[in-house]
Amino acid sequence: MNNKLRFEKQVNVTKPKLPPFRSYVKKIGDIWDNNWLTNNGPLHEEFKRNLKYHLDSENIELFVNGHLALETALKTLGGKGEVITTPFTFASTIHAIINAGLKPVFCDIEQDNFNIDSSQIEQHITGQTKAIVAVHVFGYPCDVYRVDEISKKYNLKVIYDAAHAFGVTINGRSITDFGDISMFSMHATKVFHSIEGGILSFKSAELAETFKAMKNFGINSHNDNIEMIGTNAKMNEFQAAMGLINLESINEEILKRKSIYSIYTSYLENIKGIIHLKEIGNASHNYSYFPILVESKKLRDFLFEEVKKYNLNLRKYFYPLCNDFSCYNFDSNLTPVAKDISDRILALPMYSDLNEETIRKIIKIIEYETNIFNESMLSVQH
Ligand SMILES: *Cc1c(COP(=O)(O)O)cnc(C)c1O
Repeated sequence: MNNKLRFEKQVNVTKPKLPPFRSYVKKIGDIWDNNWLTNNGPLHEEFKRNLKYHLDSENIELFVNGHLALETALKTLGGKGEVITTPFTFASTIHAIINAGLKPVFCDIEQDNFNIDSSQIEQHITGQTKAIVAVHVFGYPCDVYRVDEISKKYNLKVIYDAAHAFGVTINGRSITDFGDISMFSMHATKVFHSIEGGILSFKSAELAETFKAMKNFGINSHNDNIEMIGTNAKMNEFQAAMGLINLESINEEILKRKSIYSIYTSYLENIKGIIHLKEIGNASHNYSYFPILVESKKLRDFLFEEVKKYNLNLRKYFYPLCNDFSCYNFDSNLTPVAKDISDRILALPMYSDLNEETIRKIIKIIEYETNIFNESMLSVQH
């Protein structure tokens, strides 16, 4: 290793953004005034209004986290049946599908943006197919227009796991404009957070009552009857307070990340063998992650281990693929592109106060260790 490049303090892939301490304390002062801690409190309602405006969405409901929001959305499909989805996602997507009683059918992904390959969706449709559950991976929008066409042709619902895609737009339209339901995660490590939290944005206004009941044990607020098997997935006032404050600076947060993205890409310009995601012309991005692809799984695994000696923690995100989890019994050989990407991917640090010097060192470390790896491979061959 090269000792000169070692970090004093550990550098991780994400760093939760905390607002100024006093702003948060001031905001939660309201909770002491109101003595209202959870169950649709005043901060919850204010947060909901501000989010509707920010996401340009008519209908939203808030949840304690993104996972339970997604699971709740999937349960409205009525249980039983298949959904076409991607293996290149966080465990949450597939667990939610299975917990909702549905069967995931894995479609391969696109080489360039790691999203579900819309040209392969139709071949997976059967009489049992109920929905397409696609993920805007790393905040890069799926081929939403094609997915929309397919769903109309076969009368399927479309649910987007938009956990990574807060604030993303396509051709000037909010990402919430596409699909029947979109789920956003507001986990501490996401671009925008409420400590933990989830949002469902949806087209059909009737779903609001269903979601309200389902996140509160199935209790219907208009009569005493329990018509649904609900869960407890309500957002509390402390979460809403964090979300409200972070929402004030989200545009600034994304701008800072945009400049970090440009610094990374300028440093990577002259390095062979490392691929990173390019910006898409018709989208506005949120720069939520900075994944790279290296030449082989061996190199990826080598870098992942070696950079730890520099106090640098990278992530294999997403690896393993969801169709390789040992808790399930699927076959990742059926999605060869996803398998290849997942074997070669590494997420680099991405957070708003990452400075240029740190980025420069991260790239130097990767370059240095890649050379060491390549030399060792050469000496094995001779
Ligand atoms: C974070 C994440 C989730 C789950 O969201 P939580 O708020 O952490 O429950 C689901 N899907 C994807 C792709 C995610 O990254």
